[in-house]
Amino acid sequence: MKYCPNCGAQLSDDAMFCPACGARFGAPQQPYQQQPYQQQPYQQQPQYPQQPQYPQQDAPVKGKKRSIVGWVVAILVGVAMVAMKMGW
Ligand SMILES: [Zn+2]
Repeated sequence: MKYCPNCGAQLSDDAMFCPACGARFGAPQQPYQQQPYQQQPYQQQPQYPQQPQYPQQDAPVKGKKRSIVGWVVAILVGVAMVAMKMGW
């Protein structure tokens, strides 16, 4: 048993409207379909830090250069030592 919120008349539980005042209230209070998530930041994509600079590429190059310089120095030293041994 429920009562009309408008006039207070006794109503059946399944009454869709008040027979006394005609107020419609039977429809259960459906939650409004208001989507509270309208502010979804789709545009804010996760920031992928673009790293165009690969600092690791410099190290091998320097290493190669350094190794080349080392080889050249070693060869020059070897040639010089050979030349010294040959009595130049
Ligand atoms: Zn009523």
